[in-house]
Amino acid sequence: MQAQLQKLTELTAEIADLNHANALLGWDQHVYMPPGGAEERGNMMGTLGKLAHEKFTSEEMGKLLADLKTHLPELDADGDTYRLISVTARDYEKSTCVPPEFIAEQAQVTAMAQQAWVEARTKSDFSIFCPHLEKVVELNQRFVTFFPPADHPYDTLLDTYEPGMKTAEVKAIFDGLRPLQVELLRAISQRPQVEDAFMHLDYDEKTMWDFSVEVATAFGYDWKRGRQDPTAHPFCQSIGPDDVRITSRWVPELPYALLFGTMHETGHALYEQGVDHSWNRTALESGASLGIHESQSRMWENQVGRSRAFWEHFYPRLQERFKTQLGNVSLDQFYRGINRVQPSCIRVEADEATYNLHIMLRLELEIAMLEGSVAIKDLPEIWNAKMQDYLGIVPPDDARGVLQDVHWSGGMLGYFSTYALGNLISAQLWEKFKSLNPELNNQLRQGDFSALLAWLRGEIHQHGRKYQPQELVERVTGSKIDPAPYIIYLKEKYGEIYGL
Ligand SMILES: [Zn+2]
Repeated sequence: MQAQLQKLTELTAEIADLNHANALLGWDQHVYMPPGGAEERGNMMGTLGKLAHEKFTSEEMGKLLADLKTHLPELDADGDTYRLISVTARDYEKSTCVPPEFIAEQAQVTAMAQQAWVEARTKSDFSIFCPHLEKVVELNQRFVTFFPPADHPYDTLLDTYEPGMKTAEVKAIFDGLRPLQVELLRAISQRPQVEDAFMHLDYDEKTMWDFSVEVATAFGYDWKRGRQDPTAHPFCQSIGPDDVRITSRWVPELPYALLFGTMHETGHALYEQGVDHSWNRTALESGASLGIHESQSRMWENQVGRSRAFWEHFYPRLQERFKTQLGNVSLDQFYRGINRVQPSCIRVEADEATYNLHIMLRLELEIAMLEGSVAIKDLPEIWNAKMQDYLGIVPPDDARGVLQDVHWSGGMLGYFSTYALGNLISAQLWEKFKSLNPELNNQLRQGDFSALLAWLRGEIHQHGRKYQPQELVERVTGSKIDPAPYIIYLKEKYGEIYGL
């Protein structure tokens, strides 16, 4: 078996190299590439992606994995070797299920759909996007048929982003959460609103950028294995565990978006930088799932970055840099301002108390689309009705309603719930760590994040993709993904801020 394992690591190393090269091209595409390079870049990335796919789905790989799988019964099911084989074999089976002609058709349909979506959103006209979305949904319905039947067809889509997670589990979590979040929001809306005028003044970009660097450094981001660049849509890109890059966006009207966005992307980056080096260039070298990834970014952005304890340390430093804007704003006013709750139409601008409601709406629509129980043309109307129910507002137009997200035009159904799951998991992990480390708030007050990072490294980061999300959360917290800690967190935080 040793020789076969050796062979497996050789093969996956080459595939990882191709994927890393592609990731670097993708990073450059969004950060530095001149617009004229788009077509050539598309060709390069397509070729590299095809080579990686061919290598991974090769007969040699299939035979090797089949041989290795015969050894699984002799191995410890929680051990590294077992997991390396089983995770790689699972990826292989998923990659070989879908016929290449389907992948080519999907690429074509989504290329057209993306173009149509941009036009539809610009003109705020859903009818332009509608026929394309119908095709995207039809593709997803067909995609599901390539896999063994699941409890619900949506399980197959979810599994791409959140391995092992079931639709019924997500629905049960959201069903428990929704009435509580709606109730909390109603209670907040009946209280006097907090003041946040200081967040909308003129700020200097360079000064805010430097402050965000100071925060990322304090969090523990390793600059020898990372860098930060400006971009239009912020993201974190791993080119491999020793080169994990973050990007940030400056919007003059929303000066704090750069700071909190940097905290968020740093959270993603800390995860990737913390994966054990023995997983380099294997199938396990990345994060466990999008939901677990989001739990890390959200924790650093919200539980840490929007906490009073954090700002007790950092606020005097920020005030020092922005004397004109913040000179007369007390720590308490600042803390309330950055945590203001305000239902809005746009998901990516949503605060902690409203964010999950945006996700629940999308999940319900996606399931209905996949089941064929709604007509695509009726989506704008259903969208607006649900916005009214959950958030108490109706988008003024479809650009700020059903057309706001890029995901569907990219062919992606099954993605959205991972954002909300990330929020819930972040609160669960936070609660657990607080119970183990009663000094946490004092550490934050001193700008010391080393204990938190060390714990996340040991419990989450180092494992890479070794565990599935539900399994990982249960190992760390003793229970599967559970909305209760998030609700407690929200009630405590906003109860104090809004005097509920
Ligand atoms: Zn994120």
